[in-house]
Formats: sequence, structure tokens, C-alpha cells
Amino acid sequence: MQARRAMTGLAVLLAAGATLLAGPAQAQSGDTPVVYLTFDDGPSDGPVTTELLDVLADHGAKATFFVQEPDVVRNPDVVAAISAAGHAIGNHSDGHTDVLNKTPADLIRRFEATENALAAAGAPPASCWRAPFGATDPQADLAAASLGLGPAAIRWTVDTKDWSADTTTAQIRATLDTVGDGDIVLMHDGQGDRSRTLTAVRQFLTERGDDFRFEVLPDCQGDGEPPSDDFGDVAAATWYANAVRWAALTEVTTGTGPGVFSPGDPVTRGQAVTFLWRSAGEPVVDPVHDFADVSAGAFYEQAVHWAANNGITQGLGPGTFGPNQPITRAQAVTFLWRANGRPAVGAHPFIDVRPDDWFDQPVAWASASGVTSGTSPTTFSPGSTVTRAELVTFVWRSENRPTL
Ligand SMILES: [Zn+2]
Repeated sequence: MQARRAMTGLAVLLAAGATLLAGPAQAQSGDTPVVYLTFDDGPSDGPVTTELLDVLADHGAKATFFVQEPDVVRNPDVVAAISAAGHAIGNHSDGHTDVLNKTPADLIRRFEATENALAAAGAPPASCWRAPFGATDPQADLAAASLGLGPAAIRWTVDTKDWSADTTTAQIRATLDTVGDGDIVLMHDGQGDRSRTLTAVRQFLTERGDDFRFEVLPDCQGDGEPPSDDFGDVAAATWYANAVRWAALTEVTTGTGPGVFSPGDPVTRGQAVTFLWRSAGEPVVDPVHDFADVSAGAFYEQAVHWAANNGITQGLGPGTFGPNQPITRAQAVTFLWRANGRPAVGAHPFIDVRPDDWFDQPVAWASASGVTSGTSPTTFSPGSTVTRAELVTFVWRSENRPTL
């Protein structure tokens, strides 16, 4: 899950330097902004991480540390101290190489190397991960999720750029002053001289520590157990088994009940955009649409906001999204085509999709990219209702079919 970058009126005031609302009275109120401090590439070989733990403890602040195997192996006592102080520890792979275009076996070996080092240091297993350089792909997300590191890589909303030697302590401090409720702040405590980061955090917590609650990332607080992909109604030999397994481990779906996926059930438009939204990392956005039938608090509310903001849906008509209506195959591939940037491709082999149909290009893209092979060699059946097995397979194929 990703937190939104929300600059509330209060946060804007505070970021502008106003201090009249800060102080103990505000800290005791229920709506103190929450900020997630994160530190990558450690723990440090020198004293930085240990001193950072002291600074955090002085201000009652919790943080999340994304650690790497070699650093954990060299500094097991520091890792144990991070854990004992109540901070969360995330997996940052085994060394600082990127995880793109790797085989499942290679990915799992890298994640397990860090997990084994954590166990040897006496720390609990991680339940989240962050990709080196922040670059991930669906295959890496699936490999991580299968080890309980999931559902997807943790990103950030504020980059202090402390990774660059050109960034000064004052600049790191100035960036910290811009944070607001829900922000995830990227910093580093290992690999290189991190004294500027340490100094900036010390200054920030001393001067602004009462303006915020500093907590561990919720996705990093889990038990490190992967979600269940054991659905009694999905046999291993079915054409959609790999897609359902991917969807379960990356939490695109949790099924319709304990151990039940209901592959043949029809999918509503509200459910369909929710599948897409989860596979996109659950971005939270401020809505721009005027759909009167998307009620606050509905399970698909955030997904519809995201889909409308990104042009993935325009609704069924003015003010109408139709969340409870079954989604057709034409609508489903159109959602996916738009979510993938509306690529223009050539023709398709289906006689029931004509060039002047609004879904002609989406179907051509879905055919060319292997998202669908139709309901027969010459038919797509655009008006047919999509089942849960079909939709999960569409989304999985559009993510290049990650498997373990
Ligand atoms: Zn890193």
C-alpha cells in the first residue's frame, strides 16, 4: 500500500514555518499527522545507525529500516538493537543490484539471503521489502510476496536525496520540513558517509518532533507470512491457476471467502477497477469525477477515484459509474488498454469486433499482447460478462505472466 502525499491546510501552515499550532496540545489530539521515516542500505558499519537509534528514542519516534544481507551479516548487534527498539525491518535484497528481469530462482535466493541474515541476528522475518533503486517489476513483486514480503514493494513519497554527495545537510533538513500526513520519507543510514542525514534528522526531530507522530510502515509490521493462495475451488491444472496464485500472493484478490476464489462468478465494474487498482499498488488520489453512484466508504471508492483520474473509465454516462453492473469483456480489455497507456496496434482476427466499435483498438491491443486469445480463433464475444477467472487472467497476462 502506498500512502498519499496529502498537504492539508495544517500541514501547509506548518511547512511554511508557522508554529502556533505546534506543541504538546496538538501532539495529544487525535489528528496529529503521521509520517513514516525510512532508512535504506544499512545498518552502517560506523556509529551512524546506532546514533540514529538514540535520536529516534529521544523523541519517541519509530522508523522502518530496509537492510541488506552483507550489512546485516557484518552488524548483527545493530540489527538486533533496531528490532529491540520497536522499529520495523524491511528486506532490501542481498546487495545493491537491481531486481529487474531476474529469474524467480535468482530473486528468491536474493530475498532469502537477507532473511537468513536477519534470523541469524535474532531479528524477526521481514514482512515488506523495498527494491534497490526503487525499481521493481511484477516478477520481483511475486517472488517477494511468496516469501511473505508483500503485497508489493514499498516506495516513498518524499525523497531527501541524501543518497547524493551533492545534497547538503541543510537541503536534507529543508526537504524534511515539507512532509505532511501519510508521507513516506526516503533516507539512508548505510553505504557511505551518512553523517549529514543523521544531523538533519536530529535537527528535524528536535525542532519539529512534536508536530508529527513517527510510526513504522503498517505493511512492515506483519508476521512475514505470505497470504494464502490455497483455494479449494482452483485446481492446479486449470488455465487460470497461475493467474489466481499471482493475484492471491500479491493481494490483488483475497478470494470471496476463506479458501474460496469463485472462478466462475461474474465480475462487477466496481470489482474490476478494484483488481486493476490493487495491481497498480493502490494509489490514493483526490477524486475529480462526479459519479453519484460511487458512495463514500464503498470498497471500490478509492479504485474508482484512481481509474477516473487516470482516464481508465469515463463511466457509463454523466454522473454514472455503474459499480454493481456486470462488466463485459469489451469493457474489461478497454480498462486494461487505457491503464497500459492506450497503445495503438494493428488488426485483430475477431469477426465480432468491427473497426468502428469503441473497443476495436483495446481488443487489437489485447490480442497482440497475448492478454486474450478470444473465445474462439475468430470471436472475442465483446458483450459477454467477465468471470473472476477471466479477469484475473487478463490482468496477470498484462503484467507479463509472472510465475514462480
Ligand atoms: Zn538502497
